[in-house]
Amino acid sequence: MNSRAFVHPQLTIEGISLNMGIAHGYSFIYDPDYKDDRDLTVIQKQARFLNAVKKAVELCSENSQIQKEQNWELIQVQKTLLQDPSWQQRVIDEINDNSISDALEKVLKKLDLAFAGDDFWHARFQEVRGITQLVRQCLGETKLDFDKNKPFVLCAKTISPIEMMQFDNANLVALVVEDNSFLSHGMIIARSRGVPVVGGVIDIRGIINDNDELLVDGDLGRIYVRPLSNTIANYDTSKKPKFTKPTDINNKGAVISRDGIPVNLLINANLNEDLDCLDRSSIKGVGLYRTEIPFMMSEKWPDVDTQIQLYMQIMNKAKEKSVVFRAMDIGGDKTFQSLQGSFKEKKQAAKYSRFTLERHSLIRLQLRAMIRARINSDYPNVPLHIMFPMVSEAEEIRFLKALVEKEITREKKLGHQIPKSVLVGAMVEVPSVLFQLNRFLDLVDFISIGSNDLFQFFFAIDRMDAVMSRRYDFLSRAFMQMLKNIIDSANSKGVSVSLCGEMASRPLEAMALLGIGLRHLSINPNSVEKIENMIQSLDVWSIQDCMNDCLSDRPFAYRAAHLSIRERVLELAQIQSTQLS
Ligand code: PEP
Ligand code: MG
Repeated sequence: MNSRAFVHPQLTIEGISLNMGIAHGYSFIYDPDYKDDRDLTVIQKQARFLNAVKKAVELCSENSQIQKEQNWELIQVQKTLLQDPSWQQRVIDEINDNSISDALEKVLKKLDLAFAGDDFWHARFQEVRGITQLVRQCLGETKLDFDKNKPFVLCAKTISPIEMMQFDNANLVALVVEDNSFLSHGMIIARSRGVPVVGGVIDIRGIINDNDELLVDGDLGRIYVRPLSNTIANYDTSKKPKFTKPTDINNKGAVISRDGIPVNLLINANLNEDLDCLDRSSIKGVGLYRTEIPFMMSEKWPDVDTQIQLYMQIMNKAKEKSVVFRAMDIGGDKTFQSLQGSFKEKKQAAKYSRFTLERHSLIRLQLRAMIRARINSDYPNVPLHIMFPMVSEAEEIRFLKALVEKEITREKKLGHQIPKSVLVGAMVEVPSVLFQLNRFLDLVDFISIGSNDLFQFFFAIDRMDAVMSRRYDFLSRAFMQMLKNIIDSANSKGVSVSLCGEMASRPLEAMALLGIGLRHLSINPNSVEKIENMIQSLDVWSIQDCMNDCLSDRPFAYRAAHLSIRERVLELAQIQSTQLS
């Protein structure tokens, strides 16, 4: 009898492209919130929990045999804790009203409170955290047992930045997600890593199994499950984006458009590696360094020295080029490991919370670290650029500037040197500041438009909710008119204005931004070449004309009135042979 198992033929799945690129690898299904216990009775859930505990104990026994010397004691402690009847009973009691996962979390939180302030018990608490994780894995909720040595495609409902960093590994070749939000921070990190992403794939678990061979086409937003050999042959997965030709820049390092207009390119950086492309002469510096991202995985809030070390590394890598350090911006999908539990607002107000604004001491520590890092870096004479996120009233920036002054005064009193120039800027990403724009601009040295957040607050949509955000267009007349007002006001006051949201990294959107007078774009490192190519093949005067026409109050010619800005910019790009990819 032929016992060969039936192998399903190639399956093609259409999603949407969230990041370009082609990759070939094996799927790993990551589903940490997988709670299939909703339909179980309490008795069934209890049994499932006890079964997972049993598996966890077995896992500990297996590990203690492998790790005879190293970690042996730790594993024994975990085993003892897992078998502790009082801990098991606490979880079982919570299971009456909760899912197993939530019950484990509740017990952990209660123990956290009970152990607060006691060093001995606090150490035990970390071990309880460890067994909680282990039991979760045994419930099949955060199983990470896949082969990290072969190229893997991470398949998940969604991916937060913290998870993206957990999986960051040279063998992570692509991402496939159910979520289709272009603006989530997980996607932003994937994009800066150059990892192809296909989103909008419904019911991943139903169509992809663990360890399925996948060919991911991030350009078309398509996935081939168990691809046929001729499908693979049609794709060159070794093709990596690379810089082809040198870019025309002027003596100030700006990229020159076809009609001679200089455009300043900066990069957005989340982690140290993102700074590699600063070696490129066409990149003037870092327009947005998200200081919260490197610390998201830390077990504890970073102290001043830890922050100084990181900022110095960044400054030394950037050399003479400027780096705009954005004060920590926590909230939305950016959660902090060190704040879990104590960060009460996490689930409610943490969405777009001004976490650090509420905790002045934390801002002051960060400012201190930035000031000291600049002085102690190899480039102490480069100006220190500090940028505050989520500023919503002019008074806030006045207050934040006073904090910077206080830190400078404190450093002087301590006899420390201070940087020659400290420039304080703000992100324009909360619409309320637009109603005080002149006052606001009088208070800052520079601004950067955070179009990711500004867009969501402007249209009252959630940036994580792609269905809603797809309904609205960055290039809609209302949004572009608002951006133009900001740019015009900043230019008329001589305040430097850049845009650091994701739209600046997309050639068509960036083209429209040049058309409304923007000359500083802060972009994803992975989009540098695309944006350079677009600028060099663009006549800025014609896109300026086109945008003026699109935004004018004049009655439109019949045809123009029926085309969106997106269509008109695309049409112009085609006429001019402006490169958009
Ligand atoms: C923005 O809001 O546009 C921005 C750049 O900041 P973040 O994406 O980190 O919120
Ligand atoms: Mg923002």
